Amino acid sequence: MEHAYDYLIVGGGMAADAAAKAISAADAAASIGILGAETEPPYERPPLSKALWKGDKTLASIDLQTAASGAELHLGRRAQTLDRAGHRVVDDRGDNWRYRRLLLATGASPRVLPFAANERVIHFRTTDDYRRLRGYAVEGARIAVVGGGFIGSELAAALAGAGCKVRMLFPGASIGSGRYPPTLASFLDDYYRGRGVELLSGVKVVGGSAGDGDVELVLSDGRRLRVDAVVAGLGVVPDTALVEQAGLEVADGVLVDARLRTSDPDIWAAGDLANFFNPSLGRRLRVEHENAAVEMGAHAGRAMAGAGGDYTTLPYFYSDLFDLGYEAVGLLDARLQLVEDWSEPHRKGVVYYLDGGRVRGVLLWNVWGQVDAARALIAQPGPFDAASLRGRIPHDG
Ligand SMILES: Cc1cc2nc3c(=O)[nH]c(=O)nc-3n(C[C@H](O)[C@H](O)[C@H](O)COP(=O)(O)OP(=O)(O)OC[C@H]3O[C@@H](n4cnc5c(N)ncnc54)[C@H](O)[C@@H]3O)c2cc1C
Repeated sequence: MEHAYDYLIVGGGMAADAAAKAISAADAAASIGILGAETEPPYERPPLSKALWKGDKTLASIDLQTAASGAELHLGRRAQTLDRAGHRVVDDRGDNWRYRRLLLATGASPRVLPFAANERVIHFRTTDDYRRLRGYAVEGARIAVVGGGFIGSELAAALAGAGCKVRMLFPGASIGSGRYPPTLASFLDDYYRGRGVELLSGVKVVGGSAGDGDVELVLSDGRRLRVDAVVAGLGVVPDTALVEQAGLEVADGVLVDARLRTSDPDIWAAGDLANFFNPSLGRRLRVEHENAAVEMGAHAGRAMAGAGGDYTTLPYFYSDLFDLGYEAVGLLDARLQLVEDWSEPHRKGVVYYLDGGRVRGVLLWNVWGQVDAARALIAQPGPFDAASLRGRIPHDG
């Protein structure tokens, strides 16, 4: 079957949604089509590991209502080949999708555990994964959370809150090690233990077997663990299959210019997939966070419709861990020089990440409304040191 759109968007996530809304605002008469591999219309992903567990949101309320933009959604279809010369995408049913301008927003997919999984092993990313995990998350259920990063730490908190017996496994020394200052990371470990989460640090899952009634994990230190279900947050890899097949420039995601255009003048990219240059940091980066997906999606949409300038926003991100929460901007790399400024140790404060006298990242720990101040600080040439940074960003906005 043949389809044709002025603007075709491949990928049905948050970047796709933001782009469709921006295109229709800038070019109301245009036809917009979205080709998405998931069967559900675009939705907010972050609540899957937070607000849905706390009861603050429902699956119905996270629907982004993309169709209201006038975009036509074609779901449960995966784009398989991209013929750039012919301005044509072919999907997994053999349908042809012609475009004038194309946005690639295929996002990223979870890394997987090194053994054959069944439904009890969940590589967490989608609403289907949420529903599946929810099914196992009954009071007293033994659940292993593999990974000590954002997804692992949020899900461990959510599952403990649901009354599960949670064991959290990660290769680092502590939760979020490498990202938070060591004292904050060990505070977090104690915080989790105090809420009933058993921590197994310094281990990897090297094998396992998933049965009808439970899952056995084999750990790098030789231990074996039997649980009712496993949920993994091992990080993600950008979905570059289509861009590689099409011969676009790829290096940790698809390379885009300042206007989010790829090496093909009629193709843009946004969100988890896109590798872009940020002037404040003076380097390229690929960001796997909501703010980047939404802002880049909208910016790419406007650019495709002929509006807008360079994309210069430094994305921020946020996380909720039990009743702790934070926002952060830039690079959170604990190998940088760290300046900690606590008004209440490990409960409320700001951590600055410095490199050669320049601020490269800011962690706003239970400090709200200061994202723009943090962005402005990162854009400044400095030089900064501990004395000039302490008290610089207020803790109470
Ligand atoms: C559980 C969870 C919690 C999160 N929490 C936070 C948070 O607290 N804060 C934060 O800032 N960020 C958070 N994130 C990250 C944030 O959700 C992502 O950065 C964002 O969703 C990326 O959006 P995207 O549209 O670029 O990609 P995705 O959301 O990955 O969407 C891409 C879509 O494209 C589809 N697709 C892929 N290939 C094809 C193809 N060939 N053809 C058609 N469709 C295709 C995929 O199936 C997918 O539906 C969280 C992510 C998860 C999973």
